Parts: sequence; structure tokens; C-alpha cells
Amino acid sequence: MPQERPSTGMKVGLEIHQQLASGHKLFCSCPAVKSEDLPLSFERTLRPAQSETGKTDPAAVFEFSRHRVNQYHWSPESACLVEADEEPPHPINEGALETAVIASQILGSKVIDEVHVMRKIVIDGSNTTGFQRTASVGLGGSIEVDGVRVGVQSVTLEEDAARILGEDSKKRRFALDRLGVPLVEVALDPVEGSPEFVGRVALQLGRILRSTKRVARGLGTIRQDLNISVAGGRVVEVKGVQRLQLIPKVVEYELRRQVGLQEAAVELKKRGAATSGFATKEVTRLFSSTRSSVLSKELARNSAVLCVAAPGFQGMFGWEPSPGVRLGKEIADVARASGLGGVIHSDEFEKQGVSSAEAASLHAEFGGHKGSGFVLVAGPRGVAEAVCAGIVLRLQAATAGVPAETRAATDSGETRYLRPRPGAQRMYPETDVPMIVMDPERLELSRRSLPKGWDSEVVRLEREYTLSRDMALKVYDSDLEEDFERITKETGVQPSVAASILAEAPTRLAREGLALEPLGLEVLEEVISLIGSGRLAKEAAIDVMRAIAKGSSADVESAVVALGLGAVGEEEVLVAIERVIARDRGLILERGERSFSPLMGELMRELRGKADGALVSRLLKKKMDEVRGSG
Ligand SMILES: [Zn+2]
Repeated sequence: MPQERPSTGMKVGLEIHQQLASGHKLFCSCPAVKSEDLPLSFERTLRPAQSETGKTDPAAVFEFSRHRVNQYHWSPESACLVEADEEPPHPINEGALETAVIASQILGSKVIDEVHVMRKIVIDGSNTTGFQRTASVGLGGSIEVDGVRVGVQSVTLEEDAARILGEDSKKRRFALDRLGVPLVEVALDPVEGSPEFVGRVALQLGRILRSTKRVARGLGTIRQDLNISVAGGRVVEVKGVQRLQLIPKVVEYELRRQVGLQEAAVELKKRGAATSGFATKEVTRLFSSTRSSVLSKELARNSAVLCVAAPGFQGMFGWEPSPGVRLGKEIADVARASGLGGVIHSDEFEKQGVSSAEAASLHAEFGGHKGSGFVLVAGPRGVAEAVCAGIVLRLQAATAGVPAETRAATDSGETRYLRPRPGAQRMYPETDVPMIVMDPERLELSRRSLPKGWDSEVVRLEREYTLSRDMALKVYDSDLEEDFERITKETGVQPSVAASILAEAPTRLAREGLALEPLGLEVLEEVISLIGSGRLAKEAAIDVMRAIAKGSSADVESAVVALGLGAVGEEEVLVAIERVIARDRGLILERGERSFSPLMGELMRELRGKADGALVSRLLKKKMDEVRGSG
């Protein structure tokens, strides 16, 4: 029972990033299209610079310590010199700005009088410039979810980042097609309540933004960031949740992780574990004849083996305060974020083939603290050193509970470490773009194009297509509303059938654990049109879709054939009739016309509803006449 959960003081601040359908990018005229071919490329390396206050951002330092090169791949169809930072930005995309104003007005935000474009420092390489252009458009406002008022903090117009293609310990590869696509970011006040409630807040906000009919559609066009904290802990930023259904899972996972880390902190304090003075040494020579396969593989590659000693941590790396939460996993994540496979900690020495003699030599090397834990890091020396520095920071934070981090959501609804949370002071003015004055005329213009609201749209679907409220909502939330209306008209299929195939069946298959990628709109449309033409029973649609999702059939036609679902033609109907007549000849001769109904029923059962009833009836009558004529 979720209500009976002990109070953890959990708070979740949602930030929704919605791509806009505004024709072209925010500061150049490139279209917002995904390029499959990216024939051109260039490389950049970012360096951290001190801010005006003389401080250096910890996240920037961490990023820089990884010594990675950023490689940008692009195509002239979707990027130009602006994305490459070889040309200043063009004037702001007016359509996108108008959408941000409309979104602010719907949310009850106060539209800012003068819109200033700012540069927000990003250090993960996802912008060629090292910053993202962003402009505050609205402040304040609220939405209502389940009768609870959730405050809006801000509505911001900004450019999307480059799309990551892949990364390893040496470089990161990005595509520039997505860089500069206009986004509206809506940040909400932190909410309390169940993980499911957080999911409903995100759903509601998405519905409101879609009601403008000015936002991009499809997977990846909407992303949620979640700022999650529990009482007494720091705020953890989880980036990039793409599917709404994952939000409650991610919140649930973070809750478990953060509460677990706090329990670990209590236990560490009880044991008097160290909070500083973690020593790091190179220990490669101690492992020259190791039986650990992980370490010997690394040594064969000329890797260095470094060790961090953690006084008081023995037994704490493998301890699981809540399911799936271990300090060992947290530390391995730091190594993974730098492109290493992981670490070996002392609670798994035996399992990893590190001998007790080797463990003893580590104790001797570090001066033999009782209860000391050790973390071994193997890799190229520079990378291993940076990873050890990151691990020391993580260990220092362990006795305080939950460190402030930026994490990424995984497809399974967990989170993984990305980097420390960036500090404040990350914005400065973009001097290449003039300030925009929001005069009353401009505001009036967008006020006149305010949409009616998503709810009236759902009511329209209910009425116009005689759908249930639930089904109408599903169609609206599926993002396929327009396609639903078009397909229903084109195929003449009963709207509830089309709605269920477009908006319900894919969710059902996803719940079975199937990937939905093979079930594109064309596939769904073909299934519906086969039903419309009477070649597929509506009950069989889910089986066809399942076969395609599983990959056991390549397309709709072959799925129908493979499953034996194809509508039966005249020839097969005749064969079935001959068979029935041969069996029941006596009945026909005896009862005449009155034998038609039972025979028809028998045939339809035999053909399992796959034949057209009118055709069966016509052919059966003809054959019965022949029998009676010859009898
Ligand atoms: Zn461009």
C-alpha cells in the first residue's frame, strides 16, 4: 500500500523540456530534422574557465579531468555554421517565441517585459560553444492536478543540445541535427506525494503543452528532468526521462537509493569511518602474478592499478541497506562515468579472485588500519587517477548521506551517475542576440491564439467518435490524435476499434515487455485498413501486432499469413462446403431449405470467422440447390 510508506520528506521538482514544431531552429534557419547521414565532422576540446567570482565549477573540473575530445558529426541538411559556432546566431525564431508566450499564458505565468537571451554554461560537450542559449519568458503560474495546485516556477525558451551518438574514455560523438531545435522548458515547484502523483503531474503538463498544437511529437521530443530529494539529503538531478510511464519508477528508485544511502551514512558514523584523508597509491606491482581475471586483463594492456584506502569502510561496500542499493555500486558508477568498466572493492575481493596475500599487502602498503576498505581501479594511468579522485570525493560524501549529483535515467527506470551537480553562477548574457521587448500588442496577439484547452479536445473526441472518456484520453495522450481522425475517415473502421489499435494495444504489448519500435504508424495503419476491408478480424489485430513487435514476422502481410489469419477466399470456402455437404447430404434431402441455418452455422465455425458471411451463404445455397436437383 503506497499510502502506508513511512514519510521520507521526499520532494520532486519537475522540469519538462518540450521540443517545438516551429519550422526551423531557434537561432538559424536549419530545419528540425533527424539526419541519418552525417558526412561531415570536426573536433573540439572544452576547458573549464573561472567564473567572475574566481570559482571554478566542480562539474566542469570533473568533466575536464576526463580529458575527452568531443567529435561533432553533421549534415548540411540539418546544420550550418551557426551550430558549428563559426557564425553568430541569427535573430530569434519568432514562431517559437510566440509558442513560449502562449504556453506562459495558459499556465498563468507572468510574461516578462524584456526577453534577454542568456548563455548557460554546459560542460558535457553537448553544445559546440560550451553554452546553451536560453531566455526566460514567463514566471509564476500554476496547474491543478487531482485537486492539488502545483506552482509553476518559470517558462523558458531554449535551444536543444546535440544528440549523443556514443562515448568511451577518450571521446564523445555527437550529431548536430538536434542542436538548436527550440524547446520550451517549464519548471514546477517541488511536489510531495506518491511517485504516481509525480507521474500524473508530468502527464498533465504534457497535455497542456500539446493543447497548443505547436509542439513536436514522437519519442525524444519531450524529456523530463526530476530534482529529487529526501529530508536531510541533497538534491539529485535526474536527467532525460523520455517516457512518462518511467517517472514513477525513477522516483521510486531514487527514493529507495537516497533512503538507503542515508542508512549507510548512519552505519558509517557508528563505525567511525573516515570522512577525509583517503589515500590513493599506485599498486600495480602488488598484482604482477594475480589470479584475478579482470586485473590480469588490464595488466596485459599495460594498465596501471591504483588503490584508494577507506578507513572504516570494510564490509560497507557490499552492504545493501535497501534492495539494489550499495556503496560499492555507487563507486563503480563513478568509474563507469569515466568510461572504465568498474572497480573492485574489498568486499568482493574473494569473488573477483584477489587473494588474501594480495589483500594483506594492501593493508601493509597503507599502514594497516583496522577495518579499512579498499577500492582498486585499473585503467590507463591518467583516467585511473581521475577516477580515484572522483571516488575519494564520493567516499568523503558517504558519511553525509546523499551527495548532490546529476544522474541519468535508464530505460528500466533506474538512475546512473553522470557527474557532480553543477554550481550556481552558470549564466551570462548572450551579446550576439538583441533583447526582445514584449509589447502589449504582441501579448494580445498570442492571447487571441490561445487554445481551448486539452480537456475540451478530449470531450470533442468523445462526442464526435462516440468514444468512452477513457479511450478519448488515451487517443489524446497517444500523440496520434490527428492520425486517428484521418485513419478513421479513410478506412471507415469503427472509431473505437481504430482508437484501441492506435492508443491501447501498443501499451498492452509494452507491458508484455515487447519493444514498440517495429510498430510504427504505417504498421498500425495497415492493420486498421485490413480490418476496414474485412480481410482481418479485429480480434486478431493484437496477435498480428505482437508477431511484428516480437520480430517473428517482418510485416503485416506476412504476420497475417504466418498466423493463418488471412480471410479465406472462394476456393477454400467451396472446399469446406463440399465437405459439409458430403457429410450432411441426407439432412439436406430430408429437410430442404430448413437445413440451411444449421449448415451455415457449421461452416462459419469451420472457417473460424475468416470468410465473408455473404459469400459463404451465396455459395452454400447454390450447392444445396444442386444437391436437391440431382437427388
Ligand atoms: Zn543552422
